[in-house]
Amino acid sequence: MPPFLADLLHIWLREMEPTLTRYAVFTIGVWLLLWVVLRPLLAARKIREESPPPRQMLTELLYSLRSMAIFAAVGVLIALMYRANLYPLAHLANDWGPVWYAFSLFAGLAGLDAWFYWSHRFMHDPRVFRRFHRRHHRSHNPSPFTAYSFDVGEALLLIGYPLLFPMVFPMPDGAMQWVMLYQIVTNTLLHSGYELMPARRDGRPMLDFIVTTTHHDLHHAQAGWNYGAWFTWWDRWFGTEHPEYRARFAQAAWRPFGASPQPRPLPAE
Ligand SMILES: [Zn+2]
Ligand SMILES: [Zn+2]
Repeated sequence: MPPFLADLLHIWLREMEPTLTRYAVFTIGVWLLLWVVLRPLLAARKIREESPPPRQMLTELLYSLRSMAIFAAVGVLIALMYRANLYPLAHLANDWGPVWYAFSLFAGLAGLDAWFYWSHRFMHDPRVFRRFHRRHHRSHNPSPFTAYSFDVGEALLLIGYPLLFPMVFPMPDGAMQWVMLYQIVTNTLLHSGYELMPARRDGRPMLDFIVTTTHHDLHHAQAGWNYGAWFTWWDRWFGTEHPEYRARFAQAAWRPFGASPQPRPLPAE
């Protein structure tokens, strides 16, 4: 093999390994913990009565593997761009100390949230939906393995963020890894089918600015609402939050400071 290709393959494998490990640890971990070990304790937190069939989860796993191969390929491109000094802001930010590092984590997450909200709305445009986003919505009732069950276009859009953001924002080396770690942990939980965010006394989410599993589950049940994946800001600013979100959340969530509402059947989807 020519040395150039061997080098690319080496970088691809180096990129693939942590992505694959994180996906395996968090998807299998969340599935094992919520769907098997804690299942009897969490029965009241389950958002829907039915569970997705094992065949769906296997398909999601296979599509997620393809997405991760694409992420690693773009990771090769990012590594080559670093070598070519195309990320001068990162070099600067490396000298700005721990306060900037901590700030860059929040900025990176807020940036990811904005990127995802708007690219998600783009993917729901009927002209591109079939090519970019249909695979993800085949999981009408999601599972932890839905996290990276993407069409090629959607995988490229998501991984486009760590490629582009450090070009316009001084992101110190390594900071983006933490943002993407948070991304996969919460992404897995958003598709887990269990509502783990506690509710306030009035039934609203304890941290109402965070996208809950009920919030994203509603997006899978009724596309056209709830495009955000990390913060609820964009959906509220642009009027795309599902009108029944609060009621559905109150039904599934745990109320540490008050009685739970009487269960009622979910409205037809
Ligand atoms: Zn969608
Ligand atoms: Zn989803």
